[in-house]
Amino acid sequence: MPSLELEIQSALEEIHAKHKDNQSGKVADYIPELAKADPNAFGICVVTRDGQVFEVGDTEQQFTIQSVSKPFVYGMALQDTGRDVVQQKVDVEPTGHAFNSIIKLDEKSHRPHNPMVNAGAIATTSLLTGEGPTGKLNRLMDFFGRFVGRRLYADMSVFMSERVSGHRNRATAYLMLNFGMIDNRVEEILDLYFQQCSLLVTAKDLAVMGATLANRGVNPITRERAIEARYVQDLLSVMYTCGLYDYAGEWGYRVGMPAKSGVGGGMLAVVPQRLGIGVFSPPLDERGNSVRAIRVCQDLSTRFGLHMFDAWLNDFKVAPTVESESFPTAEMDAVKAAKQEHS
Ligand code: GLN
Repeated sequence: MPSLELEIQSALEEIHAKHKDNQSGKVADYIPELAKADPNAFGICVVTRDGQVFEVGDTEQQFTIQSVSKPFVYGMALQDTGRDVVQQKVDVEPTGHAFNSIIKLDEKSHRPHNPMVNAGAIATTSLLTGEGPTGKLNRLMDFFGRFVGRRLYADMSVFMSERVSGHRNRATAYLMLNFGMIDNRVEEILDLYFQQCSLLVTAKDLAVMGATLANRGVNPITRERAIEARYVQDLLSVMYTCGLYDYAGEWGYRVGMPAKSGVGGGMLAVVPQRLGIGVFSPPLDERGNSVRAIRVCQDLSTRFGLHMFDAWLNDFKVAPTVESESFPTAEMDAVKAAKQEHS
């Protein structure tokens, strides 16, 4: 392997070893089936825009995608109905509240704040087109299939478990029916939402999906287009501002990349034009984000200068000539040393 590749692989191994014994966080149990997840399962995968795969740990273990599905269904709704229709039903404002917050429909418009919280995601799912419930589900599975490069299947136990216990989502959906944000197919819409959340993926799948977004919508391994290029920006924007719910601000500040977490323990992050990251580790913090996944992404961001606004180390964005003119080597070295200390 050439040296950069070796460096990425050994960084993944180091970061995995550094966090694997961290026992903080708790596996989600508000969907009873999710409580069965193994808290020690831990996988990290990076897929570059040109299709190189780096992985360590449990990257082939399947888990349910949960909320990581939300930006993708948002993209599908944009493709199906266009920006104007989607904007009428769901806004793009961060809430600063939990993912399942029920009260946070906009006071004036009654729109859900964004497609990353449950209310907005349910509204987004309601916009998908297709012939009846089966036609819509098949279209959704095809859509995800193009991002991943293989057909995905739903975990029926998790689906049923959420279907019978998901009263909060049901209440949210009825509230939105009351405000005309969704139509009266409430149970059908919720079923499709629960089905999208119960799709089985691996950390590697998430990394490929992330790399597809990094590659302007073309899966770098199959070379198939998964989404129209013009909507990639929409997905990445809401992921950046709202993807980690009430942690989104701190995430943007510290890690600096569009990302989405799910209560199944998955995390997907994107470094536009460069790579996708997929992490799997079920224990969650109090905001419903994977504890180890947050740390992994933060370490990767610091180590490789992946923060969106890291203009000093990110030589992809700053032309080397400009960089060397404005930042003499000594200054660059000082920045690098400070970053090492920070990590
Ligand atoms: N299916 C889950 C729910 O609606 C998804 C939540 C999540 O992953 N944050 O509660």
